[in-house]
Amino acid sequence: MNGLAYLTIGLGLILTGCSDKEDEETTEAPDVYQKIYGASDVYVQGDYVYIKSNGLPDHKSVYYEGTQWASTKYQAYNGTNTNFHQNPNVIGDMSYTFKIPLSPSVDANHESTPLGPIGVALNGVPFFNQYAAGNAALTDEINSFDTYYGHPTGGSQYHYHIEPTYLTETIGNDELLGFLLDGFPVYGSMENGTELTSDDLDAYHGHTDATTDYPDGIYHYHITSDDPYINGAGFYGSAGTLTQ
Ligand SMILES: [Zn+2]
Ligand SMILES: [Zn+2]
Repeated sequence: MNGLAYLTIGLGLILTGCSDKEDEETTEAPDVYQKIYGASDVYVQGDYVYIKSNGLPDHKSVYYEGTQWASTKYQAYNGTNTNFHQNPNVIGDMSYTFKIPLSPSVDANHESTPLGPIGVALNGVPFFNQYAAGNAALTDEINSFDTYYGHPTGGSQYHYHIEPTYLTETIGNDELLGFLLDGFPVYGSMENGTELTSDDLDAYHGHTDATTDYPDGIYHYHITSDDPYINGAGFYGSAGTLTQ
């Protein structure tokens, strides 16, 4: 091997050894974000928390049928919806980076939530809003929700429009369940021993109160069993961004 070849290999090693993150310093995310156990990486850079996820649910689903994960993750539908019908889609491996404000703040414009991911659950699966394609009601889509109330899009993005029951069963329905893109946390339907409904919440589907994770109080969303489930009339705060 000649000197040039050594030089080329050495340069390659140096380049691949460099971080692909921007110049800004990367620091460890506060504890509350470490609860996002489905993330492949969570870190703070500048004023944002970056949450990376492949979006694959950690629970079983009928929508793992025929995928590379089927042998361990496929499970026939065994929920209670007698109108259940499987949609033609399957779960796929995604490459999400949710970039959410580290210090969320209210935005008087209350930007509408988009179709597609509007936030991330603790298992790395995205939350979607209360609408189907074309901003239609979820009425028909609900019948294709699997045992744990999720389903995939035609692009294989598995997601939750309503309560992620695997999380509320394993973590608790009075606990932190995720974050929306505006950085405000999302909790289950129970608070201080009471089940909340949309009537207990503001137009954006939240309120300000102390929580276990934020004893000094913070605006937070609650996932209720009634429509609009997770979010109401748009983001409470200034939304971050998603790359996928
Ligand atoms: Zn959907
Ligand atoms: Zn609350």
